[in-house]
Amino acid sequence: MKKISVVVPMYYEESMVRPCHEKLTAVMQSLTSYTYELIFVNDGSQDATLSQLEAISLKDSCTKVISLSRNFGHQAAVTCGISYAAGDAVVIIDADLQDPPEVILDMIKLWESGYDVVYGKRQKRKGETFFKLITAKLFYRILNNLSDTNIPLDTGDFRLIDKKVAAVLVNLKEHNRFLRGLVPWCGFNQIPLVYERNPRLAGETKYPFKKMVKFAVDGIISFSSKPLRLIMKLGIFAIIIALFIFCYYSMALLTPNRVVFPALAWLIIIISFFGGVQLVSIGILGEYIGRMYDESKNRPLYIIDKTYNITTKKNIKKSSSIK
Ligand code: UDP
Ligand code: MG
Repeated sequence: MKKISVVVPMYYEESMVRPCHEKLTAVMQSLTSYTYELIFVNDGSQDATLSQLEAISLKDSCTKVISLSRNFGHQAAVTCGISYAAGDAVVIIDADLQDPPEVILDMIKLWESGYDVVYGKRQKRKGETFFKLITAKLFYRILNNLSDTNIPLDTGDFRLIDKKVAAVLVNLKEHNRFLRGLVPWCGFNQIPLVYERNPRLAGETKYPFKKMVKFAVDGIISFSSKPLRLIMKLGIFAIIIALFIFCYYSMALLTPNRVVFPALAWLIIIISFFGGVQLVSIGILGEYIGRMYDESKNRPLYIIDKTYNITTKKNIKKSSSIK
């Protein structure tokens, strides 16, 4: 019998522990042809989250609990849960039931039909502030434009991944993790599943503005070196402006009435030219830094999905091989 693991990160979710466990258990038990496990990761909450999880784990053997030593953040907590998952597929879902657990059933159907990743795509987001809606919409669009990886729009962490994708993910050692980009980066057969996002059942968002900004910066910086290139482009633009003004007045010198360079023009030419040269120099440094950053992420050079007629495993350090 195949097994499904459900990973739930929890940070100050004491009001959600019981409803979340009940709802997920009901959904998972309706799947008679699968076994399941619920993996709750307490991400350093100091309220009753852990004690409640502990009480449930004593009664329910399908409930597994991991408690982190402090708050490491949502992405780290999810990664920890995935690394302990023993299922053939792993579902990631938030504790607040904003993502309806029934959708998991459809995700499993798509997985069974051959997809390795089924990601939830939010069609509507009920009960969110206007500010959150607009910033989220903008963020996904900017990220998608900047990034070299195709990161799906309006997609959160609610998704099902096959165990082979989970194995690749936990082996990616980078610290500022952005799973919404890392999963598409892994490749494999991915498909969206559209659903409506509900308001939070209880408690408050654990993503205040400051965390949201850090999350957005992680997403953009981990998946794009375009901001670094922008410096170079700005520099080149400034130099072109300087040269343009210089040429304009030089040509005017040749005309019969000989317009001389006004002092302001000299000032603009000198400032733009040397400003531009500095920006280009920073841009060149940026190119090197970008490359060093890429190397330091230590992502595998490639990921193998299947092999045919290959019996020996090639011993290349930076590759990740899955059969
Ligand atoms: N979360 C976590 N660690 C954190 C912040 C959040 O484990 O540092 C969990 C939180 O308990 C929830 C999920 O991540 O299960 C998503 O958080 P939330 O619902 O507050 O985010 P929002 O839906 O408002 O973006
Ligand atoms: Mg939420």
